[in-house]
Amino acid sequence: MSTKRDYYDILGVSRSASAEEIKKAYRKLAIKYHPDKNPGDKEAEDNFKEAAEAYEILSNAEKRQRYDQFGHRASAAGGGGYGGGNMNMDDIFSQFGDIFGGAHPFESFFGGGGGRSNGGRRVPRGSNLRIKVKLTLEEIANGVEKTIKVQKQVSCTTCSGTGAKGGSSFKTCSTCNGSGNVRRVTNTILGQMATTSTCPTCHGEGQIITDRCTSCHGEGVVRGEETLKINIPAGVSDGMQLSLSGKGNAAPRGGVAGDLIILIEEVEHETLKRDGNNIVYDLYLSFADAALGTSVEIPTIDGKARIKIDPGTQGGKILRLKGKGIKEVNSYVRGDQLVHVNIWTPKNLSSDEKAILEKLKDSPNFKPNPGKNEKSFFEKMKEFFE
Ligand SMILES: [Zn+2]
Ligand SMILES: [Zn+2]
Repeated sequence: MSTKRDYYDILGVSRSASAEEIKKAYRKLAIKYHPDKNPGDKEAEDNFKEAAEAYEILSNAEKRQRYDQFGHRASAAGGGGYGGGNMNMDDIFSQFGDIFGGAHPFESFFGGGGGRSNGGRRVPRGSNLRIKVKLTLEEIANGVEKTIKVQKQVSCTTCSGTGAKGGSSFKTCSTCNGSGNVRRVTNTILGQMATTSTCPTCHGEGQIITDRCTSCHGEGVVRGEETLKINIPAGVSDGMQLSLSGKGNAAPRGGVAGDLIILIEEVEHETLKRDGNNIVYDLYLSFADAALGTSVEIPTIDGKARIKIDPGTQGGKILRLKGKGIKEVNSYVRGDQLVHVNIWTPKNLSSDEKAILEKLKDSPNFKPNPGKNEKSFFEKMKEFFE
């Protein structure tokens, strides 16, 4: 690893510089070393990137504080905590809205705002699509492959997405001579600057279709449907979003498709409740079963399980089934199932039943006698949820 210069030295400001001073210093360097002013100058480009990196850190109060405390070390140790040194030109220019206020004066060099590359021409981009996928608790616990049908813009098959009838129905846009941008020179406080905006004739694409495909009216996309298989990992939760890049709407005329964003919706389970990675189940026992002991079958996310109830089990007891909960997403940690014991008190009694209970009610064994061994509700809560 190469040794890095101090960020304050790079910007030429003191350690106590205000946010405004840092911004000013960076603005000066950005103009001085901008590739537009120094075409082909590798050293200027390095200085330009170095200044952008320094500004990226020092303009962010949190990052600046960490840098003040740990210096460049934090960047290496923190797994690229700063993102420093890895900034690409797009990142740098995205800062410029902030620095120069709105459209920065150098857009021409990199082909303007939105879709870059392709020699400065704008590449059309399809929009993102959002769909909801409902999942049961069992599906969430184990992960699931879902087959879904998505209604969306798909590439037109007649013209292979080009929008043109036949292969050569294009001509270079005469407004921008194929560059996709129109350039205007304006006077600003920073001197004469070339501002560039997207060509209004071809919308930045640089070429115009002379003979449109009739199936898609020159758009290159039509309404359609795609069946997708998506793998949903175990442990997702309600409200989580998964993004499938390039599976959204197709872009007009051979551009880049948008993303498909899947919003997870959890279907409520009939008897099992989710609490983080744990599953909570309310078990109701008759007074007799609790007193005599029994074994009962209960639902779990993996199917039924039989559990033993000891004689003399008290209401409020929580039994733990280890590993019967939800797997944490992208990890091997799995929650437990907590079985909360409730004693069911009969609400309607026949006269025979009443007579039996009357006989038992004064027995010394029927008198509540919690004693020291009985854990309080508070203690149980602490034990299970802390
Ligand atoms: Zn077409
Ligand atoms: Zn044009």
